[in-house]
Amino acid sequence: MPSPSCRLCGTLLPDEPAFSLENVPRSAQGLPGPTDLAEDSGADLLVFQCNACGLVQLAGTPVPYFREVITAAGGSARMVAFRREQARQFVASFDLHLRRILEVGCGEGYFLDLLEEAGAEPVGLEASASAVARGRTLGRTIHQGYLEERTRLVGGPFEAFASINFLEHAPDPVGLLRGLCENLVLGAPGLVEVPSFEHILECERFYDFIPDHLSYFTESTLRQLLERSGFDVISCSRVWDGYDLAALVHRRRPMDAQTWDQARGQLVAELKAFCRTHGKNGRGLAVWGASHQALTLLALADATAVRYVVDSAPFKQGRFTPVVHSPIRGPEALVEDPVDAVIVMAAGYSGEVVRILREERAFRGTVAVLRGNALEVVP
Ligand SMILES: [Zn+2]
Repeated sequence: MPSPSCRLCGTLLPDEPAFSLENVPRSAQGLPGPTDLAEDSGADLLVFQCNACGLVQLAGTPVPYFREVITAAGGSARMVAFRREQARQFVASFDLHLRRILEVGCGEGYFLDLLEEAGAEPVGLEASASAVARGRTLGRTIHQGYLEERTRLVGGPFEAFASINFLEHAPDPVGLLRGLCENLVLGAPGLVEVPSFEHILECERFYDFIPDHLSYFTESTLRQLLERSGFDVISCSRVWDGYDLAALVHRRRPMDAQTWDQARGQLVAELKAFCRTHGKNGRGLAVWGASHQALTLLALADATAVRYVVDSAPFKQGRFTPVVHSPIRGPEALVEDPVDAVIVMAAGYSGEVVRILREERAFRGTVAVLRGNALEVVP
């Protein structure tokens, strides 16, 4: 039975697979021994593509060891040289000397050595007890575990992270990355690498599909995954002869709304002062423009001194402003029921409104225009 929804975006997957392979190995690691042959049989792989985000993925049950990293990469001299340079560049680019970097899915931890060589203080996370034990005998710092959305790691939050050829195994890559995010400081940089699905497409490598790899990322779907999970992507490019995709990311910093409170305080005070000065004198004041911005500001400033709001849109006339309840009237109100001051809150139309007021309606009272976060009295 196919998994009902996309691992990345949650949209229901199509009913039919885009591609299938019949009678292929059940896992990349399940090499049968002499006594297992009678039990060994093939399995069918169903490859789906999400119609919404485009992620190509296998539906169905993950291999039983999906949390564990099993790699022979540490045995290739060329690969180690590539990783050594990658670690050096990562540490140098983000000034990670003596910083604690978490490698998620580190296996026995050969990449931890390269990060340490580059000057960082690496810590590994690995689910396989035997890999953790072997890594520790080599002097590496490795915690045993697996990240899920609510996981809190001992020793966190970390100042950077790396994840190499690991996300493609995860049944819930969004949950894993969200869990990772919560164990990082804000803005923490990260290095993420996965096999490139572009490479599979370019070379028609249909035999690259294996039950161990549940997701097949292109640059687009890798970016979507990372952005959806709390990271900003700095760059994403093909590496290792085009076989892999490597992304550099930051844990996203939340927007800074602290200065907005100050801006609101100042503008509301200015509006209140203008209403105090002009609301009680003579014929009082009106506002031109019943836009949503004006209605919000009038409510925030509790602008009960405003006698009415002028708006040219007939469907607004005869109604009232929310919260403060000033009547909304057509421009003829300025003739029928004159005021001594007008605040223009008409955004991009403010200049035109001022011209109409001064030239067409020969308004001689005080005119103030809301520009940005200030009221400007115009001549
Ligand atoms: Zn999707």
